[in-house]
Amino acid sequence: MWNGIFKVLVIFMVFISFVQSNDKTFKNCNSTLTFDDGPHPETTPILLEQLKEKNVKNAIFFLIGDRIAQYPELVKKIQSYQYDIGYHSMHHTNQAKMTANEIHQDIQEFKNTLNQALESNYDLKYARPPFGGMTQKSVKLFKELETTGKLKQQTLNDEFNAQLIARQVRETYQANGLQTLLWNVDFKDWEQRIDMNHAREQFVPNLKQIWLFHEMPSYKGTIFNNQITEDLPQFLNFLCEQY
Ligand SMILES: [Zn+2]
Repeated sequence: MWNGIFKVLVIFMVFISFVQSNDKTFKNCNSTLTFDDGPHPETTPILLEQLKEKNVKNAIFFLIGDRIAQYPELVKKIQSYQYDIGYHSMHHTNQAKMTANEIHQDIQEFKNTLNQALESNYDLKYARPPFGGMTQKSVKLFKELETTGKLKQQTLNDEFNAQLIARQVRETYQANGLQTLLWNVDFKDWEQRIDMNHAREQFVPNLKQIWLFHEMPSYKGTIFNNQITEDLPQFLNFLCEQY
């Protein structure tokens, strides 16, 4: 009988150690994960579960106003998971070509749409302009930072933004109390699968890095089949191993 109990105990201990080894979560993670262009019924609920499962604390969903109006229940869901919601414009227009007044109107419309979806006043803090709100000249500079590996090292502060983001975009965001946030690492996941080698190359320990992802399953069959929900778990495992 004791032999049997011993066997059960050993099996139980092996099981516990297996569970523990697979239960790595974000403890002191500096990284912030950002998801642009949602919400989307095919991705948002799955992403939320994947983030929660790994205990990811810092995630921002940069939403498009049109999609908020279309899927208010998904916006409520993001809030219920206690992740942040950021401004990514009403219609995904390049704001480097808009006037300050047009941008201001867009922010107001976005806030109204968001508050309506949530049925409460949301304390909107972050903004990311579509296409980075960059002028043609700054797009070149941004690509240079990316190819030389300097982008991954950047602290994303006002000084950094001033080099890249069109003045009317930056100033209007600021006037509306929004902190502008670009990104350190881009997987170009609107045209390719997430490459884990790229993740390893781009990761900088102890730096507050911002990782960019997209929710674009509607591109299926036309441009590229964005498979963020299939690729994210692997990325989260990698990131959790670093902490
Ligand atoms: Zn976008």
